[in-house]
Amino acid sequence: MKQDQPRPTPRAGIMDIEAYVPGKSTAPAGVTKVYKLSSNENPLGPSPKAIEAARDVAAKLDVYPDGTARRLREAIAEAHGLNPANIICSNGSDEILGLLAQTYLAPGDEAVFTEHAFMVYKIYIQAAGARPVAVKETEERADVDAILAAVTPATRIVFLANPNNPTGTYLPFSEVRRLHAGLPKNVLLVLDAAYAEYVRRNDYEAGIELAGSADNVVMTRTFSKLGLGGARIGWMYGPAHIVDAINRVRGPFNVNATAIEAGIASIRDRAHIERSALHNETWLAWLSEQMIGLGLRVTPSVGNFLLIHFPDDKKHSAAAADDYLSQRGYILRRVTGYGFPNALRMSVGTEEANRGVVEALTTFLKS
Ligand SMILES: *Cc1c(COP(=O)(O)O)cnc(C)c1O
Repeated sequence: MKQDQPRPTPRAGIMDIEAYVPGKSTAPAGVTKVYKLSSNENPLGPSPKAIEAARDVAAKLDVYPDGTARRLREAIAEAHGLNPANIICSNGSDEILGLLAQTYLAPGDEAVFTEHAFMVYKIYIQAAGARPVAVKETEERADVDAILAAVTPATRIVFLANPNNPTGTYLPFSEVRRLHAGLPKNVLLVLDAAYAEYVRRNDYEAGIELAGSADNVVMTRTFSKLGLGGARIGWMYGPAHIVDAINRVRGPFNVNATAIEAGIASIRDRAHIERSALHNETWLAWLSEQMIGLGLRVTPSVGNFLLIHFPDDKKHSAAAADDYLSQRGYILRRVTGYGFPNALRMSVGTEEANRGVVEALTTFLKS
């Protein structure tokens, strides 16, 4: 009997959730210069125009924001050639992923994601009381056949990070279309394209066309990897019936005034986005080459980060490398929770940070 319980208890399943552990942001005591390479932030920082817009809004923080973030939706729509009515903005794309789970999943339902997928999917699926179904990847990449094989009559959502974090691998869009074609019409396909701006591949698409034409596809995006992680701005593009449902569930002022203004200025600053992508293209290639030159395996990445695998000997393990790098101010990301106990994820950093990590690892591996 509920009345007999000595204190409030969370709903069934809530205490089974393993809380998300963000990347470290501090170095051990005594380290003076810290290079944070653990959260895939933009080494070029925010757009200067976004900084200015955020400053300008400070004097008006007494006023509630527009609850529909209309001007931000219009700026996004203009940048991508979309109808603003099919966009919802959110407090980071994490929020919209949670809202999708909350709106489309009930206890007894299942939602599918891949073995090394971005961890928040599982958390939100469990929070909605549904059953998380993780499927095997092939060579650290999503496997369409494995995903389709895991779909049952209870499946309601398939989450696909394309490209995925922390692997950095992606599916060519022909594969995403094949996945969509194989799904029952009542299964929602969530294309999480958090790194779309960084991908430089002719066979890649974020999912705009599919989300604009199918009744069961949405695409989610974020400003976080482009210099506004602290502002918390994400968005979703999808069919009107899904927008309508989500709008009933989301908080009425979920995107704050600072985020709205910084976001508008940021997305209009095409030059900053281009500069960021170009910097990434150059240094991602350089870092991959250097790591391979050091004898380390890297998963081929199209994002703004690199998954680096360490040797089996304890002295040169990912944990040992993490300690060694941290003591020198280089903060990378442990990814044990993602199924990679002996790898580190490194965000592409400034030239100084990138060169510093390679130099430090060179010495570390010789030790
Ligand atoms: C970083 C990331 C997000 C979301 O980030 P927000 O800061 O909440 O917008 C979503 N998906 C993937 C795969 C990510 O790596």
